[in-house]
Amino acid sequence: MFQKIDKTLISAAQIEARIEQLAKQIIDDHKDFAEITIVPILTGAMIFTADLIRHMRVPIRINLITVSSYPGTALRTQGASILGKQLGDIAGRHVLLVDDILDSGNTIRAVVPVLQELGAARVRVAMLLSKNRPEAKGAQVDYVGFDIPDEFVVGYGLDFDGFYRNLPDIVTLKP
Ligand code: 5GP
Ligand code: MG
Repeated sequence: MFQKIDKTLISAAQIEARIEQLAKQIIDDHKDFAEITIVPILTGAMIFTADLIRHMRVPIRINLITVSSYPGTALRTQGASILGKQLGDIAGRHVLLVDDILDSGNTIRAVVPVLQELGAARVRVAMLLSKNRPEAKGAQVDYVGFDIPDEFVVGYGLDFDGFYRNLPDIVTLKP
């Protein structure tokens, strides 16, 4: 699988350094709250979340939501559908939604209202990557790791047809 990599867009070292900054900023913004409920949007946000929370030495809980928008070999979003939730009782909680990449914004527009309907006191959104596409205007995003060009990327949690999530860098693939 590794022979199809085209170029490295963001290296593992760059990701690590940026995540440490993001975690500091998030903790600082949440210093008035006793705890934070982290909700990674699976599967893509799994690795980002694992690294982010290990820089957050504050009380956190983790709940889960699974969303699919690029099924199989799709290179453009097919619309976000919620496949599963383990959100528990998030009423009154300060939630940090964590996702891998902001593209059309459909995922965030679908998930934030679900958390609000369950009574979350506050929802903040952290994205590792943002493609800055005009379609995403109006989707709530509070923290962004990196702005990237509008290219299909894999690695560090992001997949193509289920593969490449385990790459430590964020890369583009050969056509
Ligand atoms: P949106 O709902 O904002 O269009 O897209 C968000 C989701 O689509 C992301 O959470 C991610 O799962 C998937 N996605 C968007 N762009 C890319 C990309 O360049 N590469 C990969 N692997 N997934 C992407
Ligand atoms: Mg995703």
